[in-house]
Amino acid sequence: MEACLKAGNAEAHFIEEVKQYFALDQPKKGLKHLKFSAKNNHDLGTYFYANLLMITGEHEEGMTFMDLFNWRTNITLRDVPIVKRPSYGTNMILIMPPRICMLKGKEDRCNVCYYYKQMQMFLDMIT
Ligand SMILES: [Zn+2]
Repeated sequence: MEACLKAGNAEAHFIEEVKQYFALDQPKKGLKHLKFSAKNNHDLGTYFYANLLMITGEHEEGMTFMDLFNWRTNITLRDVPIVKRPSYGTNMILIMPPRICMLKGKEDRCNVCYYYKQMQMFLDMIT
């Protein structure tokens, strides 16, 4: 694993992120690895990075990463133990869309509610 990290393997950095961020509760270390995997075109790494930035309050940067791909297609994840932090809810409230959007399903997204519902789906997926 160390050799893969040193060699700059994006998958290794993504795995290290999951370990550091979620299993060892080292979010700063985890995000460093995740940023590397995201910048090296690791799809799931980019998806995680974008969502973690948004739910930790870095909305603008998170949205930029989210926009790198067409995330209208769903990504599935299994067996990743992730703790939902209280701050995630606060950071979601900051960009909560109007009620008219909330009445529609999570799959029904417009330009106003796209990022919020994306974060919702991410949290549903990981918790
Ligand atoms: Zn909407």
